[in-house]
Amino acid sequence: MDKILEGRTALVTGSTSGIGLGIALAFARAGAKVMIHGLGEPGQIDHARAEIYKVLNEDAPYSPADLSDPREVRKMCGEAQKALGRVDILVNNAGIQFTSPVEEFPEEKWDAILAINLSSAFHATKVLLPPMKEAGWGRIINIASAHGLVASPFKAAYVAAKHGVVGLTKVVALETARTGVTCNAICPGFVRTPLAEKQVDAIMKEKGLDAEHALTDVLLERQPSKRWVEVEEVAQGALYLAGPHSGSVTGSSLSIDGAWTTA
Ligand code: NAD
Repeated sequence: MDKILEGRTALVTGSTSGIGLGIALAFARAGAKVMIHGLGEPGQIDHARAEIYKVLNEDAPYSPADLSDPREVRKMCGEAQKALGRVDILVNNAGIQFTSPVEEFPEEKWDAILAINLSSAFHATKVLLPPMKEAGWGRIINIASAHGLVASPFKAAYVAAKHGVVGLTKVVALETARTGVTCNAICPGFVRTPLAEKQVDAIMKEKGLDAEHALTDVLLERQPSKRWVEVEEVAQGALYLAGPHSGSVTGSSLSIDGAWTTA
């Protein structure tokens, strides 16, 4: 594989699992130094670090910052700058999900989803954008969702946060359009990760469906391809946006969703 990110450094939030881990691995394979970040069981974190080690042949720096707290977001950014020398590529990926009718939506879940899925991207961008502008090169990639473009019932906080991520992406792109920095969103459909698989389990229990019916009839109802998006498909989209041939791609929302949002 071409080492298109040789000499580059990247911070990928939420990279102890799922899409974030896939992106961190794709960046490492392309030659970048990567800082991984996220919460989880010690075994899960060790697994993520071991996967990165296999590619880099060295330990990647790791941050356990809880991104619901802006002070921890800022601390994580400072640690990444120290460990990597500078941060050329920021991927705001960490996120959580919770479903409930809006009138029953727990306030603490609303606050947590907005803080982790949206505000953490703002706080990290605020810290890491100035040095990117000074260097004349930078990439900010925000992992939004098909739910950043369209809505589904029972996902008030998630849909509001992801629409916010798409809006933030556009503003940062406008403000950086002549600086060598780009800012884009990726809007995946249902991707085969722990976050989405938990939703299939919940639907199976709630509706008494087997796994196949829960997946095809309910979860993928909106995804015309009727199959999971794979992590690697999203990781390769991020790699393109991080790479050397995407300098004019900024302010965009890259849909990777099996035609979900075309209808
Ligand atoms: P995942 O559950 O596999 O991973 C989520 C990551 O975020 C983990 O590393 C976790 O530790 C981290 N995280 C969660 N809460 C945190 C907190 N308070 N502080 C710090 N880190 C925290 O999920 P995933 O499916 O890989 O999702 C990654 C991103 O992609 C999310 O923003 C999600 O909304 C988005 N997305 C996922 C799908 C999907 O179908 N899986 C679809 C569209 C968008």
